[in-house]
Amino acid sequence: MAYIDSVKDSVMLQTPSIGGKSIPSNVTETVLCGNLQCTGGWLQRWKNRTRPYFEGQWACSRNCLSQLVTQSVRREIGSSIAGDEFSPHNHRIPLGLVLMAQGIITPVQLQQALQRQRQRGHGRIGDCLMEAANLSEGQITRAMGAQWNCPMLTLEGFSPERMARLAPQAVLEESGMLPVRVAGGKALYLAFDAELNPAAALALEQMTDLHVHSGLLPSSQYQAARKRLTECKGITTNEETVEDQDSLVKAMVSVIEKQQPVASRLVRVGRLYWMRLWLEGHAVSCIPGESAEDVLDCVWRIYP
Ligand SMILES: [Zn+2]
Repeated sequence: MAYIDSVKDSVMLQTPSIGGKSIPSNVTETVLCGNLQCTGGWLQRWKNRTRPYFEGQWACSRNCLSQLVTQSVRREIGSSIAGDEFSPHNHRIPLGLVLMAQGIITPVQLQQALQRQRQRGHGRIGDCLMEAANLSEGQITRAMGAQWNCPMLTLEGFSPERMARLAPQAVLEESGMLPVRVAGGKALYLAFDAELNPAAALALEQMTDLHVHSGLLPSSQYQAARKRLTECKGITTNEETVEDQDSLVKAMVSVIEKQQPVASRLVRVGRLYWMRLWLEGHAVSCIPGESAEDVLDCVWRIYP
């Protein structure tokens, strides 16, 4: 069962799930602590068994919550190592060659574009190709789509107010993600400028439970849409820098203990650790509602 659905079911029906299996409400008393090493002997055990929940599991005490959070932080740090090794950059066909293979530019135009880029010492090859061969932004974006094997998206149906609630601005900026629209309540169209970020897209998929389709937007459209999104309010977000992994765990445990969410989870996006907390059952959904109450985002960066 999808993560959010299972959380929602357990919250709505007051039947928390254990290991993915829902249990009938008359045995709610038997909800077990999610910490496998739980001794149950902690002095300050929490009485309420419907909260706090972290990643589908209830913790009986601060100590047990700390164990659950530590495991998640380790998982996310581990995924960063795997994620950084995945470098699709190196395997892509250069943009100029794609355009030449498609018969859109000549070898001479490619040489001119490369020369421009060298003379400037900076700037994107796409811009130099546009100038040298008089191409449209759409032609460049489509060729980049061929490089990444992804579609060119449009801004049709883009609601900045709604999309701003999908993830914190810091997370979107860090990763270059621009959520465009949700289709059928299940699919999220996610735009990028010039290059995709598969690791970030996966993190957003895990957080929202939406099926993410990544694509590219022409640069000028992307910039304009990004600006509109930044002007929207979004979810209340606490941003903080912590010294190390242990401080991150402590900070997370403190927030969960204080807020007592009915659901919460952690993902890493680049250098950022993003935890979302759903404070009440009705707030549990892929995109928080218009009032955006009862949802809290926390974003940590590990110094430096
Ligand atoms: Zn416990």
